[in-house]
Amino acid sequence: MNKELKSTNFIREIIEQDLKDGKNNGRIHTRFPPEPNGYLHIGHAKSICINFGLAKDYNGKCNLRFDDTNPVKEEKEFVQSIIEDVAWLGFDLNNGPLFASDYFDQMYSYAIQLIKKGKAYVDDQSGDQIRDNRGTLNKPGVDSPFRDRNIKDNLDLFLKMKNGVFKNGEKVLRAKIDMSSPNINLRDPIIYRILHSEHHRTGNKWCIYPMYDWAHGLEDSIEGITHSICTLEFEDHRPLYNWFLSELEVHHPRQIEFARLNLNYTVMSKRKLKSLVDRNYVASWDDPRMPTLSGLRRRGYSPKSIRDFVSKTGVVKRNGVSDIALLESCLREDLNQRSTRVMAVLDPVKLVITNYPKKKVEKFKAVNNPEDESAGKREVLFSREIYIDRSDFMENPPKKFFRLGVGREVRLKHAYYVTCESVVKNDANEIIEIRCTYDPESRGGWSNDGRKVKGTLQWISVEHAINAEVRLYDSLFLDENPEKTFLDNINPESIIIKKNCKLEPYLQNAKLGEFYQFIRIGYFCADNDFTLENMVFNKTVGLRDTWGKKQK
Ligand code: ATP
Ligand code: MG
Repeated sequence: MNKELKSTNFIREIIEQDLKDGKNNGRIHTRFPPEPNGYLHIGHAKSICINFGLAKDYNGKCNLRFDDTNPVKEEKEFVQSIIEDVAWLGFDLNNGPLFASDYFDQMYSYAIQLIKKGKAYVDDQSGDQIRDNRGTLNKPGVDSPFRDRNIKDNLDLFLKMKNGVFKNGEKVLRAKIDMSSPNINLRDPIIYRILHSEHHRTGNKWCIYPMYDWAHGLEDSIEGITHSICTLEFEDHRPLYNWFLSELEVHHPRQIEFARLNLNYTVMSKRKLKSLVDRNYVASWDDPRMPTLSGLRRRGYSPKSIRDFVSKTGVVKRNGVSDIALLESCLREDLNQRSTRVMAVLDPVKLVITNYPKKKVEKFKAVNNPEDESAGKREVLFSREIYIDRSDFMENPPKKFFRLGVGREVRLKHAYYVTCESVVKNDANEIIEIRCTYDPESRGGWSNDGRKVKGTLQWISVEHAINAEVRLYDSLFLDENPEKTFLDNINPESIIIKKNCKLEPYLQNAKLGEFYQFIRIGYFCADNDFTLENMVFNKTVGLRDTWGKKQK
């Protein structure tokens, strides 16, 4: 895995310079700090790969730390899923998961330290007043009438805030910095608010909770983080991050910002993903159409394909949008290496080989993965009646159609050449049976008489077929940039369910986490819903279809 992120970038350059300068005694310690208010998405994967990847490459450490400072939106379910996702991506939680809420006591005493220095005060203004008095980019803020409260009163009131004397919103603790700073983040930011809410880990112990900017740097400092890597929107918060840690005179990590990952045809923020789930546009957070890591996993993405993609998008300072086609090409590249090739017919039509003996069953050896000899071979069963895909037959095909048509010959993969003699139709004029003859000399799927057979079709023996449900997916959004109007932009064909698919019996033993190529169709995997009674497969991604292009 080391190689995947090896190409250099500006963060690596900073780290290498710090190592040269002997900073932090040569230690490298990063962290990935999700708020447990949703499932992780592929944007988070970028942050995970960067942080855990750097720790790995520089013999350092990376903490998975839950930034669980807001009791209202957080749930245990999210904590569990995040732990699973990080492990699935291939990273070790060497210190186990850490929780910001474990530092509440220490954060509280840091606040007292700040008050005692005259650098924090309790403000009685309402939320609206504080907002109104903060000023704008062109207008300085207005000092709170409580700004010059003495230290003793501040300590007393802050203790009362902690002890539950006041209601939500009645008071806040603010840092005393500069109400006319050009950087609005420095205009006496709130560091504690009152919230009478139960916390998923500390229960009812606290009714004051630290604000993000205050808490985050303290968490980094307490854990001895050396490089606090975050996304660009925190650039303007860096002076505040530095102010808190300097005032407290504690261990002071270096904050470094990079551009977040964006993807076309995708929304990424947890808030938007949550509304897709809550409003039933998708079935769940791990719906295979979701860009969540659990959704991608269920769809059949391999962890390596995601790491490769993230690595290819680079670590840069400028915001941009990555192409979903790049993600899919990383996916195909990896699945090509590791998937078992099998035959599947998604839209079956019966083909009868009229000159093949009625009771006969033949076994052919099929290579499981031409890219990987160690994957071995399996047997496929052949008989007089088979299924082929409807799209592989045309009664009167054009010249360039290299599949089956009346009077045409094709190869049945692994088996024989067959030539179509006639078709049987029902009253609605639909083809219900294709009648062929086979050439016994072409056993194994080739002949040495020099005759050219261009098309090769997959097939499934009727007698041995297993029935499966196959779910085909397409982009969830129609618009390339769905961020603004995403709920009005849902693709009605983002999922198509095919109930009557015919697969090789081999796929009865399909396992979660294994990858299959349904030859000539695409990559597939067993869905979480897979059972022996109801075999469900997901289409992960297609192979390229040249016929589709020609039709256009
Ligand atoms: P969202 O905006 O999707 O809700 P967030 O930033 O609020 O995400 P956090 O749980 O706070 O989510 O994120 C944990 C870490 O993941 C942060 O360090 C954040 O910068 C990083 N991160 C989140 N989204 C992306 C992204 N699209 N690309 C890269 N890093 C990201
Ligand atoms: Mg957030």
